[in-house]
Amino acid sequence: MLREPVVEQRVNPWDIAREQFDRAAAYLDIKAGVREMLRHTKRELTVNFPVKMDDGSVRIFTGYRVHHNTVLGPSKGGIRFHPDVTLDEVRALAMWMTWKCATVGLPYGGAKGGVIVDPKTLSRTELEHLTRRYATEISLLMSPEGDIPAPDVNTNAEIMAWIMDTYSMHRGYTTPAVVTGKPLEIGGSVGRSEATGRGVMFTTLEAMKVEEIPVEGARIVVQGFGNVGSAAAYLLQDAGATVVGISDVFGGIYNPHGFDVHALLAYAKKTGTVLGYPGADQVSNRELLELPCEVLVPAAIEGQITAENAPRIQARIIAEGANGPTTPEADDILHDRGVFIIPDILCNAGGVTVSYFEWVQDLQQFFWDEGEINNRLAQIMIRSFRDVLSVTREKKVNMRTGAYIRAIDRVAKATMIRGIYP
Ligand code: GLU
Repeated sequence: MLREPVVEQRVNPWDIAREQFDRAAAYLDIKAGVREMLRHTKRELTVNFPVKMDDGSVRIFTGYRVHHNTVLGPSKGGIRFHPDVTLDEVRALAMWMTWKCATVGLPYGGAKGGVIVDPKTLSRTELEHLTRRYATEISLLMSPEGDIPAPDVNTNAEIMAWIMDTYSMHRGYTTPAVVTGKPLEIGGSVGRSEATGRGVMFTTLEAMKVEEIPVEGARIVVQGFGNVGSAAAYLLQDAGATVVGISDVFGGIYNPHGFDVHALLAYAKKTGTVLGYPGADQVSNRELLELPCEVLVPAAIEGQITAENAPRIQARIIAEGANGPTTPEADDILHDRGVFIIPDILCNAGGVTVSYFEWVQDLQQFFWDEGEINNRLAQIMIRSFRDVLSVTREKKVNMRTGAYIRAIDRVAKATMIRGIYP
């Protein structure tokens, strides 16, 4: 089946990340040099590496690991495997991780990694070889104290296990805290796999209170049915909302009366796609974004909501499960139209928050139960939402700029307190 191109024109995520930064930094009294420092990444590693394929040939792949900032602590951020990965995309994603961690108050800086590959074209053995070789190449930067990767688009717990094992083989002892999002059997945390979706659910419920939208029967549309989109969808459904539209890389489905997301998950697991689900109309990813609903959850990739389609979006709340789904021009249009956006650096911070819990548990070798994880996650997400909302009201800005103001202020202050070395 062919993948459906979602937007024809790719926007440059690094330009967008910097524009978002500039918009918020204008509200803060930051020294010009520190501001410039925060507009740059700290270090960038490009690796070109060989992988032995099943047919005996050797293919060269290109990957990146970028640290945007490490002022508040070790850098943290996922690794994505995707054919469209670029250095600028990884830079933007690393910068977003810095602001995300600062928004929810985690003692981390921001990083991101990526490999230019469509993992669906690789066998399991090839995927393992690629992962282990990439992990070896970036182990120059990776460590439990320095930089801790995690899953992102097209990577999962099994891939994190290979990274942990590769790093541990080189060190000569098992080092669980070098990566998060691992399987439970090797130091993963309960609650991690659905944590991003759970955070999306908590912040969405908070936004619905602000907007006075009753949860019962509220219509939800979700773009993306991966780790984030699927968990957000069934958790919002379990909270009483009705999921009416959902899509994956092949296209979307719509049923104004709603789906049972758990049944849809079982169906998609069997068939590999949501398409063809009984009783639903097929829609394109583009049409999906414009469906009538109360809440739209973009949970795929960057640059989906642009100046072009923003005027036609019908949702009252946009909960950004994905990183960077909305361009700054679209932000302005939607803000003017009164749409409430829960920005990515707040909305999807549940994943890195439980990654932090996982790292803490691994370092202490003392594990918590699921109730404790989910309660602490709820506390952090709800408190952060309310803190951002109050900045937003005080400064009369939108939620994204409010979150950025708070995050940038934290990192800038820490930079000044530490001082510029030497
Ligand atoms: N990839 C996820 C994100 O974009 C999680 C990162 C992490 O857990 O370190 O937030």
